[in-house]
Amino acid sequence: MEANAGSILAPVNYSDDNVAKPLENQPVNFYSLTLEDLKAYIKSKGKEQFRAQQIFKWVYEQRVTDPEQMTNLSKEFRQDLPAILSFELPPVLQHLKSVDGTQKFLFDMKDGMSVEAVVIPSEDRLTLCISSEVGCNMACKFCFTGKQKLKRRLRTEDIVGQFMQVHDRLAEGQRITNIVFMGMGEPLDNPEAVFKTIDVIHSPWGINLSRKKITVSTSGIVPEMWRVADAKVRLAVSLNGPNDEIRSQVMPINKRWDTKTLLEACKEHYRVSKDKITFEYVLLKGITDQLEHARQLVKLVKDVPCKINIIPFNEHPGSGYERPDDDTIQAFHTELMNLGAHVLLRRSMGRDIFAACGQLTTVKERPQTMDISNSRLAGLPKYKRELLAAQEAEQNNQQ
Ligand code: SF4
Repeated sequence: MEANAGSILAPVNYSDDNVAKPLENQPVNFYSLTLEDLKAYIKSKGKEQFRAQQIFKWVYEQRVTDPEQMTNLSKEFRQDLPAILSFELPPVLQHLKSVDGTQKFLFDMKDGMSVEAVVIPSEDRLTLCISSEVGCNMACKFCFTGKQKLKRRLRTEDIVGQFMQVHDRLAEGQRITNIVFMGMGEPLDNPEAVFKTIDVIHSPWGINLSRKKITVSTSGIVPEMWRVADAKVRLAVSLNGPNDEIRSQVMPINKRWDTKTLLEACKEHYRVSKDKITFEYVLLKGITDQLEHARQLVKLVKDVPCKINIIPFNEHPGSGYERPDDDTIQAFHTELMNLGAHVLLRRSMGRDIFAACGQLTTVKERPQTMDISNSRLAGLPKYKRELLAAQEAEQNNQQ
């Protein structure tokens, strides 16, 4: 991607000490590795590098993880393999099926932590909505996950592991056709693991799913958005407010990167990728569902080639928000269409098993504001922090 120093999407480098690292002298988890990683790793163990390709074929093409069955490896290598590589996947704690065909999986992430992934069927596709973090610091007010502060960023193997566990449990003839990073967590708050996972998912030596079938959804971490275009996958942005006042009310991140900054980044994304952006817009009764809001929304995104997904709010305990009635939802949809927007009214799937958009969680508390004290954002370079602080102060003065 052409992200130069003057670009709003210029890359930001910062250290990452919050991603769990594998323990020394333990076998490395295979699902954490790219082909190049495995080649380098087994070379360091005194083995032939071409074995890496053979192992990838066994695991991702044949779904064979027992070294004894990897018959084109030498007997000696098969015996050594368990000490070098583990093929452990996050255990499935619960698997629920909705009356509408949606399936929800709860995964054990150790130390009492868990995440959920959801499989959503539609006419011509089977979409996996995948989690990237345990909890989330973004604290979007309408989101159940936002009730739980960030506990841990998932490792690559935790995210790839969700895919493999779901894949291994699908009915015969079924396969996942699309992946959306819209489960628990903000993917751009965990970019190393998320984009390495994407590498595994789209590469021919890995899961081999087209890049255009992969979507990363962000609440609007502007300095990390360049990565989405760089990975050549699709971008979705949770907008959820037609102006700064309402968006800041429901999404605290808007106080850090306001709609003007966010929309500029979206324009830049389109310029580089030529991919339309999907804006997600949750309809909250009396907050974001008025016809005037529809008009403001169209005006807000008018310079960005996009489609708008409108999502009637899915209730969860203690949210303080309500779902608009069907007439209001329909009127909002019609107004957007009359104004020429490319709009999709998303059918809520899996509400009976608490798997619908914004309903994923495992715990009970909600942070009131976006807390970045243990976030990667806290590690931004000093000049960037100062710039953001100045922008924030200016916005506060204007309010
Ligand atoms: S909507 Fe996404 S970014 Fe916002 S709190 Fe929920 S999981 Fe985090």
